[in-house]
Formats: sequence, C-alpha cells, structure tokens
Amino acid sequence: MSSNSSNLPPEEGAMLSTPYLSFLLPCYNEGAVLPETYRRVKAVANALGKSYEIVLVDDGSTDDTLAQMLQFAQRDPAVVVVNLSRNHGHQLALSAGLHYCAGERVLILDADLQDPPELLPPMLALMDQGADVVYAQRRSRSGDRLLKRLACAVFYRVLSRLSETPIPLDSGDFRLISRRVLELLLQMPERHRFIRGMVSWVGFRQVPFPYDRDKRFAGKTKYPFGRLLGLALDGVAASSTRPLALASYAGLLFACAGLLLIVYALYSWWKVGRTPQGWTSLMIVVTVLGSVQLLVLGIIGQYIGRIHEQTRGRPLFLVEGVYRSGKRVPATEPLPAAKATTTLQR
Ligand code: UDP
Ligand code: MG
Repeated sequence: MSSNSSNLPPEEGAMLSTPYLSFLLPCYNEGAVLPETYRRVKAVANALGKSYEIVLVDDGSTDDTLAQMLQFAQRDPAVVVVNLSRNHGHQLALSAGLHYCAGERVLILDADLQDPPELLPPMLALMDQGADVVYAQRRSRSGDRLLKRLACAVFYRVLSRLSETPIPLDSGDFRLISRRVLELLLQMPERHRFIRGMVSWVGFRQVPFPYDRDKRFAGKTKYPFGRLLGLALDGVAASSTRPLALASYAGLLFACAGLLLIVYALYSWWKVGRTPQGWTSLMIVVTVLGSVQLLVLGIIGQYIGRIHEQTRGRPLFLVEGVYRSGKRVPATEPLPAAKATTTLQR
C-alpha cells in the first residue's frame, strides 16, 4: 500500500534541505492574478540572494489555478504545490501550507497582491533584530469597500477587548514568522483555526510593520460578508471564552431589575390595592425564574468554557529559553539530575 513512498528515488530526500525562506500563498480561484503574483514573488525572492521555496496551496479551486501552479512547478524547482482535495477555507489552507514549509522563516501572504511581497526585506530586517513575528499592520486599506473596512474595524476592536491574549488591531495573516513559531503552531491541534490569534498567543517578540493595503490585483474577493462573519465568530470563539460569561452578567442585571419590580408589585398590591388578581404573584414568579435561569446558564457557560479550553489542547505554557549560569541552554534540555545529586551529597 505504501509502495509509493518506498519507490521514491533516493535524490528525493536530498532535495529536502532547509531553505532560508518559505513563501506561503493560499489560493482559491486566483487564476486571474496568479501569473502576476508569481512574477512579483519570484522577483523579490531572487533579489534576496538566499535559498527559498514558494509553497502554493490550491484550496480546491474550480478555475485553472492548479494547472498554472503545476506549470510553475515544472520549470521552477523552488515551487511546491499543495493541492487540497476540496475547498477547505482560507485558515485551513494556510494550516495545510504551514505543514509543508521547510524554511527557517515563513512569509505568509495573500495571492491577490493586496499584501505586497516587496515589503519582505524590511520585514526580514526586523526579524534580524530579534523579532519572532513581524506582522503587517494596515495603516490604510484603500483597496477594500467602505462597508468591509467598517465591519473589520469594529471586529478587530471587539476581538481585542474580548481576547485573553492581546491580538493586534488591523492585521490579517500577512506576516513573517520564525521556524520556532511555526513549529509551535503545528503543535496546536485545535479544529477551528484562527491563525492570527494563534500566532499572537504563542508570544515571543512580535513587532508590527505598518503598510498600506493595496487593491486586489484581479479577480473577486473570496470573503463575502457571510464568510467574513464566520471568520469573526471563529476568531472570537477561538480566542476567548468571555462571551460565555454574558449570561451570568445578564442574570445579575435581570435579578437586580427584578428585585425592584418585585418591590413595586408588592407595594402596589398592598398599598394601592388595584392590581388585577394574580398579577403580583405572576410577576414575582416570572422575575425570579428568569434570573435564576440566566444565572444557571452562566454557571453552565463557565464549565463549557473550561471544556472548550481543555479540548483545544494547547500547551499549558511555552518556554522561550532556559538560562543556567547566565548562559542560554536549550529549553528541552532536562535538568542534569546526576550532577544535582552529586552536589547534594557534598
Ligand atoms: N482563500 C483560500 N480559500 C478560501 C478563501 C480564500 O485559500 O476559501 C485565499 C485567497 O485565494 C486569497 C486569501 O485567501 O489568497 C485571501 O482571500 P481574499 O483576498 O479573497 O480575501 P479579502 O482580501 O478580500 O479579505
Ligand atoms: Mg484579498
């Protein structure tokens, strides 16, 4: 069954050396723009004077995207094509692509040239200065429609309020990440993936790189409003369990308002005496039950939040490095137990 892998020529392994940089481009029906994207990425890559690969993910396109990619790959050994079985969505296409990036650094960019590849050199320079993540932050997004700009502005602000770890405002997936960040991302098994939130969660030194977002070079956006809303919901659910606490807050609010209502109902029954029969008791039952239900929902929400965090299966903590005698040792190196015992015996 696995005859395919055993039949691989021996040179195949030799080709798996580590390039300095991987470009990662998820593509869904980008046939109209791909030749220009490839040309511009290639120009930037060649000017770099370092080894590189271009990982193109075809996310189940129905146009000639895959055929074009295969053509590039045929004449250019730097091109790696990852062909998904069907359309999986942008975030999963990115996740799949990350698995095939062999580079020391990975530049993630959209295929539609809204993220100019020419910004690579200054982003690399920031990484040379010690950053693990250089995320491009939109100073302006002239290429997008007003409604989309507005919706995105609201979304990023709500998300940064809700998220447990800070998520930078106005930045998409256009970013340069280091190998160690990539490997940590691959260790996160969660199914609903919101890559930019996951990258922020990893930590280390993450620096912004302001840029002006261009217009889409050709083709149509693959994020109509419904899909954008889906991404927003994924973003909130993946980065925060705070919305689950909303029921508790509503319950508390309802209980306070209900208490006033009960006082008023009792007062009008006792002093005014003109209430219809059964109104006072009905009001009391409705308010008490309503607030108890909301409070209990809030409590259930707290437990669901914990289950959600548990099933997400992220590591408990991530260590940047361990320092002994002022020197950095690999974080994975275990405590030298033998030496410790000797010291103790003395
Ligand atoms: N994309 C993808 N799969 C999808 C939708 C989008 O791989 O299901 C890719 C798309 O080809 C592009 C990137 O994700 O390279 C961003 O999509 P788009 O430019 O349409 O989004 P927008 O910039 O309009 O938000
Ligand atoms: Mg775009």
